[in-house]
Amino acid sequence: MFDLTLTDYQKDIQQRARDFAQTELLPGVIDRDVNEEFDMSLFKKLGDAGLVGLQFDKKYGGHGNDYFAFTLAVEELSKVDSSFAISFAIASTFATVIDKFANEEQKMHCLPRLCAGDALGCFALTEPEAGSDAGSAQSTAVRSGDKYILNGTKKFITNSVVADYAVIVANTDPSKGSKGLTAFLVDLKETPGISIGHIENKCGIRSARVAEIVMENAEIPADRMVGEEGRGFKYALTSLNYGRLGVAAQGLGLAEGAFDICKDYIMERKQFGRRICDNQYMAFRMADLQVDIEMARLLLYKGVWKQQTGQDFAADASKAKLACTNLAMKVTTECVQSMGGKGYMREQHVERMFRDAKITQIYEGTNEIQRLIIANALFK
Ligand SMILES: Cc1cc2nc3c(=O)[nH]c(=O)nc-3n(C[C@H](O)[C@H](O)[C@H](O)COP(=O)(O)OP(=O)(O)OC[C@H]3O[C@@H](n4cnc5c(N)ncnc54)[C@H](O)[C@@H]3O)c2cc1C
Repeated sequence: MFDLTLTDYQKDIQQRARDFAQTELLPGVIDRDVNEEFDMSLFKKLGDAGLVGLQFDKKYGGHGNDYFAFTLAVEELSKVDSSFAISFAIASTFATVIDKFANEEQKMHCLPRLCAGDALGCFALTEPEAGSDAGSAQSTAVRSGDKYILNGTKKFITNSVVADYAVIVANTDPSKGSKGLTAFLVDLKETPGISIGHIENKCGIRSARVAEIVMENAEIPADRMVGEEGRGFKYALTSLNYGRLGVAAQGLGLAEGAFDICKDYIMERKQFGRRICDNQYMAFRMADLQVDIEMARLLLYKGVWKQQTGQDFAADASKAKLACTNLAMKVTTECVQSMGGKGYMREQHVERMFRDAKITQIYEGTNEIQRLIIANALFK
């Protein structure tokens, strides 16, 4: 039975994330967006507030495997600063690969620091010629004694500029295509031959730092290979299912954040002698958006509930990602419109949310690719 009752713990996390967003994220959110600045001290504060590592085991510094609590935290943070929220969520996608497929030594190497908020991680799959078709990644990893030599370029990697750790997927046997892809745990800042290439100048999520990772004869110890050779793409696809729930939570939070600001504004603003919300067209628009938000939230929570109860949630994650990110684009667009000229201005926040919303339809698999996944499950 699909049960949406939040536990006391989940309610507490939700409230703490809400408070954190108001007290810590809201004050500098506009400046961080303008300056494209990721503030690592905020991530540390998030860790100190007990909000990082919710979905991981206590022995790795986590809080005990509650993925629902993590989703609620991403949703709440995204209502105020979705750039920060996605940096947090992507660090969690990195940690999910490690948690699910790495050995104990590898887990202990990075998870405790990450769960404390002391370090960020990133997940590097995409390449210049391998986007939606990520299985065609061309980066190579050639075994040489007790090392692998990595060469190639990873493109559009969130957190790469500031992260300490990366999971990098490279091909150990190009003759096998995607079945030759292998995952590696890489210390980004300390590995000779690894450097940060072009840093992207983006439309939205501007304070989340996204860049290339360039590998030039980078030597990775063989014991930093994650899991088995040739299983990297499978690990990536599994972690993307989790990542899609995170992006869905980002989209939902964006929509809710913009909706709340817009609702307050149109209850105050008067034209033609009455409040904007007293025009039926405007009120109905908000009524429709509220219904859309509630429908998308149900899809997301259902996907998370299936994950939490050990069921196959791959298609549900795609449905939630599709619904919540299209919602984000629709709601933020309508809210800018409902607020008129004010909505277009930086200090009202909805213009940033409108810019941030667009990427949610693109990364973690575009929404066209989500439809492919849903259709494949439908017609298999
Ligand atoms: C800001 C940002 C952050 C990112 N962060 C990360 C990260 O941390 N790690 C990482 O590995 N990647 C990351 N990505 C990469 C992201 O996942 C890819 O951009 C995305 O998967 C799409 O790939 P592409 O940009 O190459 O588009 P393309 O694959 O070139 O697609 C172009 C268009 O064609 C459509 N299309 C492609 N194939 C099909 C098909 N078979 N059927 C129908 N339509 C199709 C797409 O939907 C899209 O509309 C990030 C991207 C951005 C922009």
